[in-house]
Amino acid sequence: MITLKNVNKTYKTKSGEVVAVKDVNLEVGKGEIFGIIGYSGAGKSTMVRLFNGLEKPTSGDVVVADNNIGHIKGEQLRKARQEIGMIFQHFNLLWSRTVRDNISFPLEIAGVPKKERQKRAEELIKLVGLEGREKAYPSQLSGGQKQRVGIARALANNPKVLLCDEATSALDPQTTDSILDLLVDINKKLGLTIVLITHEMHVIRKICHRVAVMESGNIVEHGEVLEVFRNPQQNVTKRFVKQIAEAEDASETISTLVERYKSGRIVQLTFIGDDAEQPLITQLIRKFDIAVNIVQGKVSQLQDGAYGTLFIHLDGNEEELNKALAFLQQENIEVEVINHA
Ligand code: ADP
Repeated sequence: MITLKNVNKTYKTKSGEVVAVKDVNLEVGKGEIFGIIGYSGAGKSTMVRLFNGLEKPTSGDVVVADNNIGHIKGEQLRKARQEIGMIFQHFNLLWSRTVRDNISFPLEIAGVPKKERQKRAEELIKLVGLEGREKAYPSQLSGGQKQRVGIARALANNPKVLLCDEATSALDPQTTDSILDLLVDINKKLGLTIVLITHEMHVIRKICHRVAVMESGNIVEHGEVLEVFRNPQQNVTKRFVKQIAEAEDASETISTLVERYKSGRIVQLTFIGDDAEQPLITQLIRKFDIAVNIVQGKVSQLQDGAYGTLFIHLDGNEEELNKALAFLQQENIEVEVINHA
């Protein structure tokens, strides 16, 4: 469904040339859910723009649904682009239009008669689970519902490929999961080829069949998701594997703590920097009539510098607990209350 052959993309800037994509070769099969993962600056957005014909490769071929998209223009390019649906991190909805009218907008542009547009919009609304919200405006919807509108709109023209550009990065974990479930559902029902571009490892692991890891414009590793992540060869891939291992560690910690402490509060504190936690804990103990246990703590090295996570258990009467939590929340750290025993 997608073939990239020796693709290079160089941008000319005032200070010289920037190579954004370097000699990339890639094949994505029909009906596949394919992930492209990389940190910021790896070349992911450039790949998206090459896939959907917004950028032309400096050299090489980008073939999507049998169209050599980098080498066509005008009406031919417009037609070829109809084979590609896109969803975005910030949804890109039209705020003055209802759910139904957002979804039928691409059909309006394509000159589809009103009756047909409405019928198609109804089908899509059902497919993405937005029945009853047809007349709502985007401002009245949750993030997950907005992305459902985005997905329905992307499918309006019956594309062969759905490109998802950081499509869940603005959503909370639970909503992310429900959107990913919906994408799998659509992939199965319609046999649609899906390409996900993300910097989030769990997105890849949850739904992709194969993955390509990008760094400095290159695909440095690719293959079946499980194989690539079970036996990572490159440092960048190892970092992504570590990212998911840490998330799993945290969820295991939470369930054991909830088991262990039957009263008080378990609180997760996340702070950037190294030793901000010690003075904070001392203050907690001095200021409030509560017991403070540090149950687990660790400092992780991430791309944005060190950050620490600390689980503490607070016990005492309700009033003091609430005061202590209010105090923590005023501090410049992230505070999450895990349980209310
Ligand atoms: P990612 O999406 O993975 O963050 P990008 O494709 O945005 O990566 O960027 C890859 C490289 O290309 C970066 O060095 C970036 O600064 C550069 N780049 C991206 N778009 C442009 C542009 N329009 N002009 C000049 N340089 C660009």
